[in-house]
Amino acid sequence: MRREEARVAAQPSTAAPALILLGPPGAGKGTQAQLLIERRGMVQLSTGDMLRAAVAAGTPVGQEARAIMERGELVPDSVVSALIDEALGRIPAGQGVIFDGYPRTVAQAEALDGLLARHARRLSRVIELQVDEEALIDRISGRFACARCGAGYHDRHKRPRAPGVCDVCGSTEFRRRPDDTAETVRTRLAEYRAKTAPILPVYEARGLVARVDGMAPIEEVARAIDRLLVDADRPHP
Ligand code: AMP
Repeated sequence: MRREEARVAAQPSTAAPALILLGPPGAGKGTQAQLLIERRGMVQLSTGDMLRAAVAAGTPVGQEARAIMERGELVPDSVVSALIDEALGRIPAGQGVIFDGYPRTVAQAEALDGLLARHARRLSRVIELQVDEEALIDRISGRFACARCGAGYHDRHKRPRAPGVCDVCGSTEFRRRPDDTAETVRTRLAEYRAKTAPILPVYEARGLVARVDGMAPIEEVARAIDRLLVDADRPHP
C-alpha cells in the first residue's frame, strides 16, 4: 500500500483521470459517462442523480431540492459541492472520475478546484459536448430509462430490442424524469446558457477544454472522448 502511494505520488501525470463532461441537458453526458464506466472502470459523479436519490429518500437535501428541480432551476452551489465532496471521499484514489452535471456555475468550478486539491486529484480534461438546441428538445422529450438498471432509451432513437423489455437486465419497468417536459427543458437550457456556459472560458484559459460533436452517433462520440483521454494520460514533458 505504501509502495503504491509512493508510485502514484512520483507520477502525478499518470494519476487516475478526472474528467468533466459539460453540455446542456440532453447532450448525452449520462450516456457517455455510462460507456466510460463500462470501458475504463471510471466512476460517474452525477449531481443530478445524487439529488434525485435525495428527493426519493426524502432527506433534508432532497426536500430543499425537489421544487427547484421541478422548475428546472439550479440547486444552491453549497449543496451540490457538499455532495461531490462526500462522494470523492468514498472513491479509491486509483479510480478515475467523471463529473457529469457538475460544475454548473463558476462558483462550483472554483469549489471543485479546492475539492480536487483536497482529495489529491488533478483535472485531466473538460469535454464540451456540442449540440443543436432543437435536437435537444427532441432528445429530452422522448427519453426514458430502465427502472432497475438505469439503461437509457428513447421513444424514437433507441427503443428496447424487445418492446417493453430492458436490453441490459430484462426488467419490464421503465421511468421518465418529471423534469423532462418541454417547458422545464427550456428553463434548463436557459440556466445552462446563463450560468454554466461561462465556466468554459475559465477552463479554456488553462488549456483543458476539448470540444466534441455531440450530434454524432453515440459510438463516434465515445471514440472521440476516448482519444482525448488517451492524450491526457500521456506523461507531460
Ligand atoms: P441533471 O440530471 O444533471 O440534468 O440535473 C437535474 C436537475 O438537478 C437540474 O435541473 C438542477 O435542478 C439540479 N442539479 C443537478 N446538478 C446540479 C448542479 N451542479 N448545480 C445545481 N443544480 C443541479
